[in-house]
Amino acid sequence: MFGLRFLPILAGFSLVLASPMHAADEELPNEIATNLSTLGRKPDWGELEKYQSTITHDEFAHLVHDVYCAHGFSEELIQIDPDEARILRWKGSQDYFALHFAKSDAERLPIDRTWTAPSARAKADLKKPLDGFNIALDPGHLGGAWAKMEERWFQIKKAPPVQEGDMTLKVAQILAPKLESLGAKVSFVRSAAEPLTPYRPSDFREIACQFLERAGITEPREDFSGPSDPQKEKTVRWQEELLFYRNSEIRRRASQVNYRSQPDLVLCLHFNAEPWGDPAKPRLVPNDHLHLLVNGSYLPVELDLDDERCEMLHKLLSGAYPEELDLAESIALTMAKATGLPAYKYKTENVTPVGASGYVYARNLMATRLYRCPTVYLEPYVMNSREVFARVQAGDYDGLRKVAGKKRPSIYREYANSVVYGLVGYFKKTRP
Ligand SMILES: [Zn+2]
Repeated sequence: MFGLRFLPILAGFSLVLASPMHAADEELPNEIATNLSTLGRKPDWGELEKYQSTITHDEFAHLVHDVYCAHGFSEELIQIDPDEARILRWKGSQDYFALHFAKSDAERLPIDRTWTAPSARAKADLKKPLDGFNIALDPGHLGGAWAKMEERWFQIKKAPPVQEGDMTLKVAQILAPKLESLGAKVSFVRSAAEPLTPYRPSDFREIACQFLERAGITEPREDFSGPSDPQKEKTVRWQEELLFYRNSEIRRRASQVNYRSQPDLVLCLHFNAEPWGDPAKPRLVPNDHLHLLVNGSYLPVELDLDDERCEMLHKLLSGAYPEELDLAESIALTMAKATGLPAYKYKTENVTPVGASGYVYARNLMATRLYRCPTVYLEPYVMNSREVFARVQAGDYDGLRKVAGKKRPSIYREYANSVVYGLVGYFKKTRP
């Protein structure tokens, strides 16, 4: 991930649904509408009725102020009264969703949700530490033939190229049998170097053109000259490709998670990077770091969007945050121990530090927002640091080898093992 590099050039535009162009779960939107995120759907506020009286005033206020809306919010959008919260359904209307609070912790109604928290299964019923726990592995990006398009590719001279999407899949393939041997049921959100979305960049041509027009670019260039072209964001092709490999792809993965696999936890596997400039002549950097992300820290412009505001409440009311935070903290500490990496310090304002480890941040990423079960997003290692580059070139291997001046396991196994230790530690601590 590269911080803000891939934010769309404009927020606040989105699309209304039109007839599908492919046989698919979702229809392809082809017209821009206001007050929804790009490719976002009109939210169904009625789905939140099931959360009535499941949360107290104090817990709701804490999650709003300290986690989800820590950058502040307009009272036009969210009002917190002693007995209920009122959340505006549609920007520009006076139509509110009223959420009634439970009067005390003891009076909370149980939450109706598709996932089970580890603490809900007693240790005595378990043969193995992760017995009965359903984990989905989400290897970030696409890799393979798509790696250059998604700008997750670089190459130094004749060395094999570094492709994040292939590296994350390799970690998932090493991690899955380890989790299964501990009793977990494991599924892959992506299991090959191919997209889940049935759409391709050219399907988004009309949307890309409308998007650019609304951004004030009335006669956009069709194509860009390469990844270093400073004007690429203003071209039709770059926007079409972004809509395909990021927006449409992540929305399709969210459908897979929310309606098909319905896991108890999603682990989004990534490798981090620092800006590398020209991918054919990349810059290697000395620094390396680690951080993990959970959903939260919505910016006021994001809360303004009807779909993001509704999804934020889904996430908040589902009770995912305490699970996500404890899991992320546990994995952060075992990863920090295994890798020796320092915590990444954000230079941007779009995050909120959470927990005590210093490694975990809340941030409103599309995946952590749209996956409705607990979701932890991992960002270890800087791929274009000198040390990590050498370790990636060494590939996967058994045991220890001297790489970049030190005897160490393969970077893939170090990653996978430290995730396993963090998960097991969390389960041991949590299960009664
Ligand atoms: Zn990534």
